[in-house]
Amino acid sequence: MDFKYSAEAEAFRQEFRTWLEANMPRRRPESDDEAGSDFVRTNEDDWRLSLAWHRKMNSGGWVGVNWPKEYGGRGATLEQMVVYNEEMVRAHAPGIVNGLGIMLVGPTLIHWGTEEQKKRYVPKILSADEIWCQGYSEPGAGSDVASLKTRAIEDGDYFIVNGQKVWTSGADRADWCILLVRTDPEAPKHKGISYLLVDMHSPGVTVRPLVQMTGEKGFNEVFFEDVRVPKKNLVGEKNQGWQVAVTTLMFERTSIAAMRDMMSPVRQLTRLAQLLPRNGGSAWDDSGVRQRIAGFACEAQALRYSNLRQLTRRLKGLPPGPEGSAGKLAVSDLNLRMSKFAMELLGPYSQFEHGAAMAMDSGRWSYRMLSARALTIAGGTSEIQHNIIGERVLGLPKG
Ligand SMILES: Cc1cc2nc3c(=O)[nH]c(=O)nc-3n(C[C@H](O)[C@H](O)[C@H](O)COP(=O)(O)OP(=O)(O)OC[C@H]3O[C@@H](n4cnc5c(N)ncnc54)[C@H](O)[C@@H]3O)c2cc1C
Repeated sequence: MDFKYSAEAEAFRQEFRTWLEANMPRRRPESDDEAGSDFVRTNEDDWRLSLAWHRKMNSGGWVGVNWPKEYGGRGATLEQMVVYNEEMVRAHAPGIVNGLGIMLVGPTLIHWGTEEQKKRYVPKILSADEIWCQGYSEPGAGSDVASLKTRAIEDGDYFIVNGQKVWTSGADRADWCILLVRTDPEAPKHKGISYLLVDMHSPGVTVRPLVQMTGEKGFNEVFFEDVRVPKKNLVGEKNQGWQVAVTTLMFERTSIAAMRDMMSPVRQLTRLAQLLPRNGGSAWDDSGVRQRIAGFACEAQALRYSNLRQLTRRLKGLPPGPEGSAGKLAVSDLNLRMSKFAMELLGPYSQFEHGAAMAMDSGRWSYRMLSARALTIAGGTSEIQHNIIGERVLGLPKG
């Protein structure tokens, strides 16, 4: 394990830091972004601001930085990607839009797509001219997504798609969807699936937002009724879509783990403890409170080093292992435990909603508490990550 960054990575850091300093929008002092979850549907004004920031980042060449240069990326190394994430966190830079497109769809298409598909879709993913969503889960197929039932039947140059997806994040704003469909109902379940690119504006597509317990509409039900999808929108071979789907999932899990700087909520928790009045001082004066927060800080640092260890492994040319699952599990669990601890600290104040007049620290922690569960489910539940680690890392027998 190597803790030092190479000279190239440090030069990359300097270039990005300088660009961010010159170009980053001024933030509202009481910005709630840090309290945000990945699954929030922002209002129209926020969306426009985010889109403008995304396009500025893209024009500076700072979106999809690890993509190959020929597809509009910078061909950044894994090490540079870590530096990139560190600098985004350091600058408190606003996130970009089209996260699913950038993190999942682009890399999957670069790996599996035809040249025509790459040329057609990839540039508009980077520029966020086309927003993407992920149509995997169905009412009867979540953890076991391979049992999906949405059906595609061939009709000349088209597939005709019928069925329903659920929990589709961002479908209400999406222009395109990566859609898993069953093309051979007779084959074993993993062998009869195909991976399609579906225009969300096609006749027969209906999107219905679902309200989460945070009160926001982050994800949706999506219905497909006789939707015509050109055959040229098939990614990979017909009935071999499972392999493509797994590639996307791998990108999803590693992104969830790599994206999070867990020291940021630790700092916010510290601020909360310092803010909360207790026995004539603040909760921070209590050594028990400080020890709990120090414990979270240790875990957050351990996660950072685990990421670096995996990075060293990848830099040595070894393939990505099941680290995405371990990282995703650890991040979502730590995030949940920190939110619970904040509820303990707040006591009765934990009942105030985000933004309520009497709420401490803008009520960010009650919001976080409600949204923290989402991360333990999205991208594969914690139980499923345990199964993967048990079976593929520890070599335990299947449960
Ligand atoms: C915020 C959020 C955003 C999402 N966005 C998307 C999206 O954009 N696109 C998309 O396709 N999906 C999305 N999902 C859906 C997500 O992928 C599924 O919710 C997840 O895979 C679990 O599936 P399920 O909800 O059907 O639960 P189920 O699979 O029915 O699981 C129910 C419970 O049983 C447990 N369980 C199931 N199988 C096993 C097993 N073999 N061993 C042990 N325990 C098991 C699970 O861990 C869980 O606790 C999103 C979910 C959330 C919460």
